[in-house]
Amino acid sequence: MLELATPVQYVKGVGPKIADVLAAKGIHTVGELLHYLPFRYEDRLNPRGISELRPGEMATVIGEVRNSGLFRTRKMPIFQLTVGQGRARLRCLWFNATYLQDKFKPGQMIALYGKVEEDQRSRELQIMQPQFEVLGDAGDGEGNGAEKKAAESLEIGRIVPIYESIGQGRLTPRWFRRAIRTALDNLTPELPEPIPAVVRGRLGLISPRAALWNVHWPEPGESFQDLQSSRTPAHIRMIFDELFFVELGLELKRREQKAQTGIAFRLDDRVRAAIKKILPFHPTAAQKRVLKEIAADMEKPYPMRRLLQGDVGSGKTIVGFEAAIIAIENGYQVALMAPTEILAQQHYFSARRILENAGYRIVLLTGSLEADRKREIRRHIAQGNAQLVIGTHALLEEKVEFANPGLVIVDEQHRFGVMQRLKLMKKSGEGAGPAEQSTPAEPDVLVMTATPIPRTLALTLYGDLDLSVLDELPPGRTPIATYCVSDDQSPKVWEFVRKQVAAGHQAYVVYPVIAENEETELKAAVKMYRELSGHVFADIKVGLLHGRLDAELKDQVMRMFQKGELQILVATTVIEVGVDVPNATVMVIEHAERFGLAQLHQLRGRIGRGAAKSHCVLMTGGKVSEEAQKRLDAMVRTNDGFQIAELDLELRGPGEFFGTRQAGMPNFRVANIIRDAKLLEAAKREAAAVLAGPNSEISAEEISRALVHMRTLWQHTYGLVEVG
Ligand code: ADP
Ligand code: MG
Repeated sequence: MLELATPVQYVKGVGPKIADVLAAKGIHTVGELLHYLPFRYEDRLNPRGISELRPGEMATVIGEVRNSGLFRTRKMPIFQLTVGQGRARLRCLWFNATYLQDKFKPGQMIALYGKVEEDQRSRELQIMQPQFEVLGDAGDGEGNGAEKKAAESLEIGRIVPIYESIGQGRLTPRWFRRAIRTALDNLTPELPEPIPAVVRGRLGLISPRAALWNVHWPEPGESFQDLQSSRTPAHIRMIFDELFFVELGLELKRREQKAQTGIAFRLDDRVRAAIKKILPFHPTAAQKRVLKEIAADMEKPYPMRRLLQGDVGSGKTIVGFEAAIIAIENGYQVALMAPTEILAQQHYFSARRILENAGYRIVLLTGSLEADRKREIRRHIAQGNAQLVIGTHALLEEKVEFANPGLVIVDEQHRFGVMQRLKLMKKSGEGAGPAEQSTPAEPDVLVMTATPIPRTLALTLYGDLDLSVLDELPPGRTPIATYCVSDDQSPKVWEFVRKQVAAGHQAYVVYPVIAENEETELKAAVKMYRELSGHVFADIKVGLLHGRLDAELKDQVMRMFQKGELQILVATTVIEVGVDVPNATVMVIEHAERFGLAQLHQLRGRIGRGAAKSHCVLMTGGKVSEEAQKRLDAMVRTNDGFQIAELDLELRGPGEFFGTRQAGMPNFRVANIIRDAKLLEAAKREAAAVLAGPNSEISAEEISRALVHMRTLWQHTYGLVEVG
């Protein structure tokens, strides 16, 4: 008997060599093999008659090979195959497919899947490049007659699962059908049921065993549409399982955090007055609401873990400063960390502008400071003189001891991931100074992000954080107009920039420099700067900003632009995050086709910060792929970060979108957080319900069974930090 945890090698037909191929795909156990789901199904129970086919439809056809052969056109060799059903015939064509030459023999049964088309000239039906499978091929040397017969029944006369081949085609769909069938036939009848009965009842979940069988071998009456869209009861059970145990782990972590000792900050009239005093403008309703949520957390005796999500320009910084004042007025220190040095500097300027008049002591600690200066600043921090410490993540990496840390604010934009965040929390615990050793209270943590991820996804990705959303832009903004042009229009674009500058505004010209091609691209950017500053805008003050400049120079350039001493700033993506110059109303992005959607949106967020109308010109150079065009169109169409994020998610898929591994997101096997957003919400709700027990609905035994299962999964499957 096979258990789910049995190594896959013990399935009959899987030797050590094949086990290696499977392992490369993350399949080590019987359970993992059974979670390798078909990506589609073919209806070979009711295959289409050739004479009923209509042009334009996707169809499965089963027929007999009549003849086949290779013929050469001037352009390329084409392989042609004719299959027949009685007198009806269907032609199939494959381009450049010399490898098919000896594949087929007349009389073989074959299943084909593809799009039916009508030949322009002959008006006959044909399928170009169909997927195919030879059925019951006597020549493959696999087994004796009886086995062959059984195998055939896996291939025809039913709904057949189609798996992605792996190992350069070594393990075919047919191989998977047999191996998975063998595994199911020998699977222990006693599969554990880790989900409490009441949850199963609420979601109408079928048993794990039925799910495993039916997802691979659907019952004859199963809705074909549900199968193709992963919505059969079997799919739902498997997807829910996966989501539920991730959510259970996150929920448990969140509860553990709440059980830790934190700091109960006091929020009295004095503190309120201190906050009021620094505000340079009336906060928006959203800013007020969000501050209330943060303040309520800070007053509680357990550590805050809150995510503040708000589109670029929504005004997160001031909210962060308000929270900082609560901590400082209570006698604690605050760390504010930014993903880049420029952004840390930017925060430092704003902090001094807004907070220093009120007498708060602020320091900037970045990696590029001289050693002496760093040491001095660290001493200020360790002695508790510095009240607000602003820095890059160098704050994490270097040994910085706080006398009395109370609040950590992480402005992550979208550069930090979940894993880094966890590291930070640990560090701030370790780094606690002597004063903290007697009261090991965890500091509060506020993570600010500009990635406008859809709510359900935020809940998974940041499932252990509470969520606040700034969903309103400060007043007096006019929407940014965005245009897309090819770079042969550049003279016109520069003329436009010149006019804007003449009207007293400032402009960014952004050039892509991606780490992989840094050298050559940087050269191109610098050349571009020379061209613009020396010729096109010879009479205008133009500055250059890129990542390789030393910190002091960067600082100087940024300051000059901020003060209006430079009219045009040629920059690489170092300005992507956070930089705030409301008088800049124009952004020209060169080679816009090379930027990702999130990055374009971030960049554009640098303009449109003042009352004057802003303009963003996306300039393309060279070939624009179809996907790049979609990104550019989206940018022209909308300014809404949420819409852009959703499209980005669609275009790139969740893995790429979040940088799965890096962000600490579990790599789901069967779930897809976009397609399964509803189940994800349900999983989250049910996870909370389970942890709220035991009660009349859920027994202590059921809870502990679920928790044991969850821990095994978290350790083995997701490789995430340990929980509970
Ligand atoms: P982000 O959320 O992208 O970090 P910032 O905090 O940099 O946004 O704010 C963007 C701009 O809006 C800044 O110039 C800031 O001073 C301004 N701002 C923020 N809140 C308000 C408000 N309530 N009224 C007017 N201006 C505001
Ligand atoms: Mg910001």
